[in-house]
Amino acid sequence: MTTAALEKPAPAGHYEPKGMLIDGAWVDGASGERIAVENPANRRTITEVPRGDAADVDAAVAAAAKAFPGWARTAPRERGRALLRIADAMEARAEEMARTIALETGNALRTQARPEAMISADIFRYYGGLGGELKGETVPLGEKVLNYTRREPLGVVGAVIPWNAPVLLGALKIAAALVAGNTMVLKAAEDAPLGVLLMADICQEHLPKGVLNVLTGYGAECGGPLANHPGVAKLSFTGSTEVGRIMMRAAAERIVPVSLELGGKSPSIVFPDADEDWVADGIIAAMRFTRQSQSCTAGSRLFLHADIFDSFLDKLVAKTAKLKLGDPLDEATDVGTIINEKQFRKVCGYVEEGLKRADARLVMGGLPPETGPLSEGYFALPTLFADAANDWRLAREEIFGPVLVAIRWTDLDDAIRMANDSHYGLAAYVWTRDIGQGLRTAHAVESGWVQVNQGVGQVPGQSYGGYKQSGMGREFSLEGMLESFTQRKNVTVNLETPPARG
Ligand code: NAD
Repeated sequence: MTTAALEKPAPAGHYEPKGMLIDGAWVDGASGERIAVENPANRRTITEVPRGDAADVDAAVAAAAKAFPGWARTAPRERGRALLRIADAMEARAEEMARTIALETGNALRTQARPEAMISADIFRYYGGLGGELKGETVPLGEKVLNYTRREPLGVVGAVIPWNAPVLLGALKIAAALVAGNTMVLKAAEDAPLGVLLMADICQEHLPKGVLNVLTGYGAECGGPLANHPGVAKLSFTGSTEVGRIMMRAAAERIVPVSLELGGKSPSIVFPDADEDWVADGIIAAMRFTRQSQSCTAGSRLFLHADIFDSFLDKLVAKTAKLKLGDPLDEATDVGTIINEKQFRKVCGYVEEGLKRADARLVMGGLPPETGPLSEGYFALPTLFADAANDWRLAREEIFGPVLVAIRWTDLDDAIRMANDSHYGLAAYVWTRDIGQGLRTAHAVESGWVQVNQGVGQVPGQSYGGYKQSGMGREFSLEGMLESFTQRKNVTVNLETPPARG
């Protein structure tokens, strides 16, 4: 592993927050308290944001409720045009956005933050074109009756997002909910609110006030009141399975619909005919090593056929060793930092557990250095334990850090059984030159999204979401927007009303 220079001061150009966005105005929290936002690459405070609480949630929901009737009545394609203007504006400020994301999340500018800024703009463009697709149906009940359905918005959507791809995940909720005619109160993650506030700043220039409101604050203190607010008609949550349960309970209490995009422990199944360099590159991409594996879709369980186990691992280790860890803002850096101290300690705890196991073979990485430039931030080394078993804690729990386990298989049914032996079911990856075999395996795996011979990220338009405890609902597509952010009204009209008297 090589080290990019950490000494250079962070170049200017990141976004300076102005407060929380409520009813078109930038405000401090009602409490006046603030949360420090830390740069995880050097543990220094970047800036502060308001510590929103229940009073701010009340104000934001009231603003969104007030804005709802006007926005819902705006013609859908007109709403879409506002999103298209936002997409242009997001592109124009993409570099500022990328630097802001890199600074607060520790994700490397070139490999992660810049693509996230561009994809987020593209998400607004995608949904901006979908206004005309909010179509209803006519139902043939005979000549005497006209029966049709309308897609209507739900009202105020309460959205809560995590820090790992904050702007992309925020864009996904904002654009889909708004084009469908809903208004929104979105709570940003406490560790990464700045890019989301920049996005809100761009959005509010193109939206009527109150249509989008963005709060900053802690989970239970600010996200909790939002989830439980009687004025919120729909909950949309991305984050851990644990907090997903809390959101679902809150939704159950008030009988409101809820979409959940939760955690994962996704399998990569490599067949004996795939002992090749491009597959090793694909495994690195699927494991999201250049995002420090802080990705819900990380292919973190590597099922390798016994015939190629050692030769494939040699390729994988040689390629991963070329990744450069360092200052997220340095163009030369491939891999940045873990988001915060808590998460860093958690990742180190899993590595320590692997190191203590007599039956685990460390083939790459290990504990992070305690001295030198990398010790200044939350840098974790891409780590691989071989000869793992599927029942180890390292193979069962979502680590959300760069710790990969390699498990040997010989019988395909056994490999599929192990891949499916998880309470998660978000993503999966299959690697083989035999497409028939690849597709049969893809169909047998219990995951919401299976990729064959590639390990890329989501593209707007895909129906994306989890099986099992990885979530419910789909948000990345046209169908996702229709299912998650509209409700159907059925209208039945009697075509044989008697003639008026006189
Ligand atoms: P988290 O669940 O701890 O936090 C997510 C958000 O929920 C944050 O904004 C947080 O403040 C808020 N929150 C926490 N407690 C809350 C409460 N009691 N009430 C209301 N809101 C509360 O998750 P995280 O650590 O920020 O993110 C990592 C997790 O997100 C991982 O499990 C990852 O797999 C998952 N994730 C899933 C997807 C997906 O699309 N399926 C995408 C990204 C991340």
